Amino acid sequence: MEKKNLDWGNLGFTYMPTDYRYVSHYKDGQWDDGELVTEEKIVLNECAGVFQYAQTVFEGLKAYTTEDGHIVCFRPNMNAERLQGSAEKLEIPTLPEGRFEEAVEKVVKANAAWVPPYGSGATLYIRPFIMGSGSVIGVAPSDEYQFRVFATPVGPYFKDGAKPITIRVSDEDRAAPHGTGNIKAGLNYAMSLHSTMDAHREGFDENMYLDSATRTYIEETGGANFIFITKDGKLVTPKSDSILPSITRRSLIQVAEEYLGLTVEHRKVKFSELEDFVEVGLCGTAAVISPVGKVVDHGREILIPTGMEEMGPVTRKLYETLTGIQMGKIEAPKGWIKTIV
Ligand SMILES: *Cc1c(COP(=O)(O)O)cnc(C)c1O
Repeated sequence: MEKKNLDWGNLGFTYMPTDYRYVSHYKDGQWDDGELVTEEKIVLNECAGVFQYAQTVFEGLKAYTTEDGHIVCFRPNMNAERLQGSAEKLEIPTLPEGRFEEAVEKVVKANAAWVPPYGSGATLYIRPFIMGSGSVIGVAPSDEYQFRVFATPVGPYFKDGAKPITIRVSDEDRAAPHGTGNIKAGLNYAMSLHSTMDAHREGFDENMYLDSATRTYIEETGGANFIFITKDGKLVTPKSDSILPSITRRSLIQVAEEYLGLTVEHRKVKFSELEDFVEVGLCGTAAVISPVGKVVDHGREILIPTGMEEMGPVTRKLYETLTGIQMGKIEAPKGWIKTIV
């Protein structure tokens, strides 16, 4: 298979249509068999549930070329499981068992020429989603849906490597207690766009959201979970029902315990504890880990000891171990790597 003629080392994190995408339709109470198609445009009625009442959920995962030339996906079963949970919460019909993995596999295989080569730093980003395609005007779940999976080659999320970022404590909330913060739905992003853009206009890279009930506990950012390292080398990650359960974060916890021998605490984290941590990072599929160098709370600067130049040593070890596993350089825990080609 001949690779596409792209400048692999200089890809941005932007959408580029590839040759094939997968689509399955839900109608009359059931999903059809699904198929690969070449058309990237979707024709929908103006009254489709996705347009009117934002009935849509999504996932994000990547395909990698490993050192020995295979194309693999990282823990797609975790994304499959999470999508089912998101769908249930928005009254979207769940997929038949195995359908998610089958669709991802088909899309990656069909677009193998678009999977960036090993060593380029780039990956194939895969975006599965389900949306209400049937017409609804009275507020109700749609009666028809589309499950789609497309893929697009992307460069590293942060172009200039993992330079520490500056974040601010947001005055707006991302998620309510007992709300939808723990599902992967576009609606959680639509309502955080304003505070994200406001943060950018004020010179910050991201928002840190606190728990909306008491504003005392750290939750997450708009699209990534937090990891903290204590002075004595423990990994701490915030626990809350309104945090999206990041697969990267759950994988890092296992890497920390099983590969690096670190003690891990997954618990509520008070904002006032922040100054005690020696390393802070954001984690998610897109960037894996982005180190945080500074947190600004209404003008008060909290400087993370690792500074603004590079990742802290423990964060770096976590990053290198997890990316080493994903690229096939380090042996993975059982079931983490699904070989596609
Ligand atoms: C997707 C997402 C994450 C990161 O999850 P991963 O599974 O690690 O990619 C974190 N927070 C939010 C709000 C998200 O939507």
